[in-house]
Formats: sequence, structure tokens, C-alpha cells
Amino acid sequence: MTSTRTPASAIFSRDYEQARTRFLEAAAARGAAVESAVLEGLRGARGEELAMDTALLGPRGARKVLVVSSGTHGPEGFAGSAAQLALLQDQELLQRAGSAGVALLLVHAVNPYGFSHLQRTNEDNVDLNRNHIDFSRPLPANPVYAELEPLLMPQQWPPSPRDRKALQDWIDRHGLPAYRKAVTAGQYASPDGVFYGGTGPSWSNRSLRELLRRHASEATHLGWVDIHTGLGPYGHGEKIYAGRVLEQDHAMARAWWGADLFAPFAGDSVSADVSGPVVSAACDECPGARLALMGLEFGTVEQEEVLGCLRAQAWLRRHPEAPQALREQVARRTREAFCCDSDEWRGMVLGQTRVALLQAVQGLRAA
Ligand SMILES: [Zn+2]
Repeated sequence: MTSTRTPASAIFSRDYEQARTRFLEAAAARGAAVESAVLEGLRGARGEELAMDTALLGPRGARKVLVVSSGTHGPEGFAGSAAQLALLQDQELLQRAGSAGVALLLVHAVNPYGFSHLQRTNEDNVDLNRNHIDFSRPLPANPVYAELEPLLMPQQWPPSPRDRKALQDWIDRHGLPAYRKAVTAGQYASPDGVFYGGTGPSWSNRSLRELLRRHASEATHLGWVDIHTGLGPYGHGEKIYAGRVLEQDHAMARAWWGADLFAPFAGDSVSADVSGPVVSAACDECPGARLALMGLEFGTVEQEEVLGCLRAQAWLRRHPEAPQALREQVARRTREAFCCDSDEWRGMVLGQTRVALLQAVQGLRAA
């Protein structure tokens, strides 16, 4: 047991800049090998440098690697960053990983631009969890999204009663599952729309792949927990299998994380079966490894509120003339939609993440 405890809320940072500083300081204090991939040419909301920072705890070229990443979706990084900071202060868990021969690779702020500017997408409005596809092949088509987009982003914001009715009529006609799938599965045709996957590998995608080649190409077994928020019941961390449709990988992940590891392709997850999640980079970059890849998704507020924030942000991108007060209101609501301001919720995030990481370490130990 650790003798000193930090209250859950104190470990959550107020902005990206503070989160980054605390991560780098804690990693250095642990003697981790720290690297920073700087996003050149762009600055954060407070004028700060933007970077994807990594801390390697354990030997280089380890056979067993556990990746823990935060901020794939911008402000979802408040939770992931806090969980990483908790891990860096968790003497007991770090000792267990060390004695199991597991190298921990912490990736802080996969999407630093979105984290700082409080938007789920990156500097090019790309959703990084739709960007890790094979761009040499034809882009996935999502014709239903194209049909829905005018209803998602009507002429005025907030939507008028008539706009809301038009969207509700569509949902009533086609069903809520079809609606959620069309909106969230990913789309590659509308660069300023929602859940846009891009037309090529993003900076984060390329940086992450380089990182895996440097630190995980020798791995025989690799686990990855990518921390998300904004989907599912309040405070519950749904374990979403995000690896290959390959029985030996799926079975290993289930053995580590249990029967409540849900797979979108099986239709039992809160998440739609999305194209190109970040963790799938390991499938290409760690060809010799058995992989247990997971998104850990913490519920916050009602899904329509979360989606409403994403629609509002997309609408604002199309309307530079929109009043500043509306922009500020949307930013505030977005932050609250992705990181609940309560000790209870924050404690649930830290506790459940710790369990998932401990399970992964135990799984890797036995592998
Ligand atoms: Zn997310």
C-alpha cells in the first residue's frame, strides 16, 4: 500500500499545459526515458507548445510492453492524463510491472491540439480514432452520414424546434442504432463534419507509429489501454476490445480483462464498430506480437448532450461569424461533457483504470 494519497480531483489538471507539465515532472522523477514529439507550427489555447510526450518505464526492447495512452480525443485527455499521473505515483503497481518484466510506455496527449483547444478532433478536424485505416485502399463510404449531415448541422444554432423535429423524424423512421452508427462510425467525405477520418495519416498517427517502431517492435506480447470519456453510463469504464478480429488476440484480451470486455464488431458495446482506431497501429507496427488492445471508455453525461457539443463545434467551424459568447458556452459544455467535475466521477476513473492496468500487468506476467 502507498502511504500518501492524493485526492482524486487534485490529480486532474485544469488545462493541457498543466497536465503536460505534471506528466513530464512525474515521469522525470520516476527516472523514465522521456521523449517529446512537438507539433510544429501550431500553438495551444494559451500560446503554449503542443507535443505528444512519452515516458518509457522499464527496459528498451522489452518483450512485454504495456502502452497507456491519453488524449486521443482532445479533452478526453483530462481523465487519461490524470490516470497516467496516478500511475506514475503508484509505487506498488510500478513494482509489479518491473518484476513481471513489463515495460510501460505512457503516451500523453495523442492529440495535443484538441486537448488544449478543447475539441475532440485534431488540428485538421480529424477524429484520430477514425484515422488509422489503410489509406492505400478506397476510403470507407458512409452514404447515410451524408444524408444526415444537414440535419445534424442546420442553418442556425442552436437548432430550431423545426430542425429538431426533422432530426427526430429521421431517427423515428430509421431507429436509434442506425442513427448512431451512421453518425459515429466515421466518415471520409466531409472535412468539416463530425467523426471525420481524414484523407491520409495524421501527424499523431505518424508519430505514434514511429514510437511503436522504436519501443515495441521487439515485443512478443503487447497490451494497450487507450483512455476515453463521453460514452456509456456515468462513471462506468466500459472495456472495449479494439484489436483484430482474431480469436487468439480476442481470447487473450478476455482472459486479462474479463467477460465484460465488449467488442463493437460483436454488437454488444456502447461504441459503434468504428473504422481505424488509434490502437490498431500496433497491428502494423508490432507484427510479431500477440496483441490485447482496448479502449477504456468512461461515461459522463447523456449521449445526446455529448453529440450536441460535437455538432455545435462542427457548426461553429462553418460559421466564423458566430458570437464569441456562443463559442465560450460550447467550449464550457464540451469540457463538462468529457470530464465531470466531481470527486466521485474522478475517483471512479482512477480506480477502474488502476484495475485494468493491474489486470494487464498480471496478464503479461503470465504470457
Ligand atoms: Zn474518445
